[in-house]
Amino acid sequence: MSNCAIVGINWGDEGKGRMVDLLTEKYDYVIRYQGGGNAGHTVVNEYGKFALHLLPSGIFRPGVVNILGNGVALDLENLWNEMQTVVEQGVAITPDSLKISDRASLVLPWHRELDGLEEARLADKKYGSTKQGIAPFYSDKFQKKTIMAGELFYPERLREHLKDLLEWKNLTLTGVYGAEAVKYEDILAWVETYAEKFKPFICDTGKVLKKAVKEGKSILFEAQLGSLRDLDYGIYPYTTSSNAIAAYAPVGSGLPFAKVDQVIGVVKAYSTCVGEGPFVCEWFGEEADELRKAGFEFGAKTGRPRRVGPIDLVATRYGVECQGATDIALTKLDVMSYMDRLPICAHYEKNGEIIDDFPFPAALYDCKPVMEYMDGWKCDISGVRCWEDLPVNAQKYVEYVEKMIGCHIRYVSVGPERDAYIERA
Ligand code: GDP
Repeated sequence: MSNCAIVGINWGDEGKGRMVDLLTEKYDYVIRYQGGGNAGHTVVNEYGKFALHLLPSGIFRPGVVNILGNGVALDLENLWNEMQTVVEQGVAITPDSLKISDRASLVLPWHRELDGLEEARLADKKYGSTKQGIAPFYSDKFQKKTIMAGELFYPERLREHLKDLLEWKNLTLTGVYGAEAVKYEDILAWVETYAEKFKPFICDTGKVLKKAVKEGKSILFEAQLGSLRDLDYGIYPYTTSSNAIAAYAPVGSGLPFAKVDQVIGVVKAYSTCVGEGPFVCEWFGEEADELRKAGFEFGAKTGRPRRVGPIDLVATRYGVECQGATDIALTKLDVMSYMDRLPICAHYEKNGEIIDDFPFPAALYDCKPVMEYMDGWKCDISGVRCWEDLPVNAQKYVEYVEKMIGCHIRYVSVGPERDAYIERA
């Protein structure tokens, strides 16, 4: 059977977790292929409401094998806490339902510490890090100075490796930041504690997946964050430190030879953005407060109020292109029900010129939104389950967005619950 990636088209928080939770029914394997616990996927289902940070969203479906691929930032401490929360609510997590790649590298406590120290140093020039250690972690991975999960099975080599890394890391901690040196006994104790807990879950997931492909199993790749936060294609440096786009899914999963057959891009019916960086269509004041309140736009991980604005067709079209999206899931359409008129950022104006191509990051500061408006529908649509029952003005909005971004909107989500959606032909 085919495979599919579910990815964010914009700045993240588009509702990917909700879509993966819905679609996992059709898949045997769900894989997180990049990122760490620095964002939250909110899932509402029969077990309750969850903010998943690192666990793949297929964890709720019996029979689904969930994999944390080699591309993720594996924070064992946070993952363990997250697993306990989910288990406490009645979801079983076993080495059959969760497998961790032996090639995934570990986020160590010093990565989190360094993240905080660097954000403090940057002061008002900060990037808006969630301080989960993700940027220091990926920098170290590229410098080949991390511990891979599989090393936990080789304790003697692990101890030597850890000693070498510690010596190097303490140079930065003490010399650059003037912080306290990390003690070998402390870091070793931390690693050994989590090694015992996680060994049953760690294996050669590439091998598991190759077998699954041979057996014709279906695979779902789950992205964290959106196109505009991708390290190479996003609004650098206000990006994350990994590649969130679908093209990276095979590499970060352990199936480097795989082709992604279907890419479902998740787009929110309006825009939100957490963290710093240029955000052309941003609203301020009352207008923003009203939308933020209607959509409950506060970070799942941080609780931070999200920056909000109207849908940005320029950015969204670019996001669709970067992902090679084959289908779109448009989420949170119900949130716009309070609006008399529907705001759309249709183009950008840059130094007096109308532009439709998403510009180089530094040029975004010179761009202003060019707005269009459509009539609203002003009624509750959260109970609608088929296209024909959607108010005509809601249909027109969806069709207009579809035309402008050049990709079929297959799913329209009208609520956070699993069944609150409309599937279009
Ligand atoms: P993700 O990181 O892309 O999974 O997105 P988040 O979990 O950060 O944010 C999406 C939020 O919107 C969550 O609170 C979801 O429960 C909620 N949500 C998703 N789809 C819909 C929808 O169609 N309508 C409403 N009202 N809420 C939704």
